[in-house]
Amino acid sequence: MYFKAEHLQKTGAFKIRGATNKVKQAVKEGATFITAASSGNHGQAVAYIANRLGVPATIVVPIDAKISKQEAIEAYGGQIEKCGTTSAERLPRAMELAKEHHGEFIPPYDDPLIMAGQGTIGLEILDQLEDVDAVIVPIGGGGLISGILTAIKETKPTVKVIGVEPDTANDTLLSLQHNKIMSIPASTTIADGLRTTQPGNMTFPVVQKYLDDLVLVSDEEIRMAQKFVLERMKQLIEPSSAVTVAAAMENKLGINNKNVICVLSGGNVDVGELSLI
Ligand SMILES: *Cc1c(COP(=O)(O)O)cnc(C)c1O
Repeated sequence: MYFKAEHLQKTGAFKIRGATNKVKQAVKEGATFITAASSGNHGQAVAYIANRLGVPATIVVPIDAKISKQEAIEAYGGQIEKCGTTSAERLPRAMELAKEHHGEFIPPYDDPLIMAGQGTIGLEILDQLEDVDAVIVPIGGGGLISGILTAIKETKPTVKVIGVEPDTANDTLLSLQHNKIMSIPASTTIADGLRTTQPGNMTFPVVQKYLDDLVLVSDEEIRMAQKFVLERMKQLIEPSSAVTVAAAMENKLGINNKNVICVLSGGNVDVGELSLI
């Protein structure tokens, strides 16, 4: 097995790829202010790249956002605004802020430039491992997998791409089974980057067109995989990232003796949560 080590990426997750692509374009088109609505990896990535490009960014986070996450956003040069506890409250506030300041709102996944940025992972994989047979990818809103699917299936369609969701955040699996976007109640899975309640309007058609298979893993399996990677590989990955390793360890991929790449999507872990594994 091989691992695409996005947990070692700048800001600790792959999100910097899409954020860079989108924020650069916004700035090129004249935006002088950037907003996003995420206390997690997307918020950190947007804060970091806006700061690098010399544009102020305000990240709207829930009132109960972890202090460590707020501090990370601020350390990357972002301003914090607190609003509500749900994304239904944060999203409109971030969009309103963008409008007020003639800036641009940067969505987390449902955007062609975000999807294309995440897709550079797929291009790199094809470059880096000539005889790759399968790529295993976590699915939240679907920006990561739709970018990777486009890059791989439109270049080398024989490579299998398999998605992984937590069993309690199976919105994409349900949507595939019903052939339309389906919504689920908010999940409390430990894979907090995968708690989306439905796939994106732009990401889902790509998943529908190209995805080979989708498997589910439990929180228990995710923890075991995260612990294994820490103990045996000496790498710290976050639960949203460990789902791909969990799917392999639990023999859910239906693949043997092949070159498999697990995308390790991120490594941002609150040290307080480490004791849980
Ligand atoms: C955002 C995120 C995901 C899911 O990406 P989507 O584009 O929403 O599918 C997976 N892992 C990590 C670490 C993330 O931050």
